[in-house]
Amino acid sequence: MAIFKPTYMINNTFELNPEKLKLMGITHILSDLDNTLIPWDSPDITPELKRWVSELEKYHIELVIVSNNNYTRVHKAVASLNVKIIARAKKPLPFAIRNFVSMSSVSKNRVLFLGDQLMTDIIAGNLAGVKTVLVKPLTDTDMKKTRVNRFFERPILKLIQSIYKTTWKDKI
Ligand SMILES: [Mg+2]
Repeated sequence: MAIFKPTYMINNTFELNPEKLKLMGITHILSDLDNTLIPWDSPDITPELKRWVSELEKYHIELVIVSNNNYTRVHKAVASLNVKIIARAKKPLPFAIRNFVSMSSVSKNRVLFLGDQLMTDIIAGNLAGVKTVLVKPLTDTDMKKTRVNRFFERPILKLIQSIYKTTWKDKI
């Protein structure tokens, strides 16, 4: 079950405090896009996301978007944020994350992988050996293929919470 276990469970992405992350030694956040940073059905970035990204910059934490979506969709959404994009990442496979880690020669324990889905994001991050953060999705609705994952996800998440005594926290 360890493969499903997020290192942290946080109610909302924007409760991840860049100053505290820096103190924890985090230098890179690799993050899912849809429903983690922006609602999946929205084409635009929010003021909240913008503020959070500029806070990350202030603490020299690099944000990289790692999405299973295609480059055009991801780039369109985040073009105004100065961030790297890894598109068609094929999560839950860990290769996109592993490649990034080895190419930027950063130590794995300085990397956080952030996402709203156990079955893709958390598994990918765990397989790649980085720290993982599960957040609650920004909208209640999901893409069709995501709905299938959610169906399996709910009982697994319950089990994880009871085995590891982990619960949702308000912030890091
Ligand atoms: Mg997502």
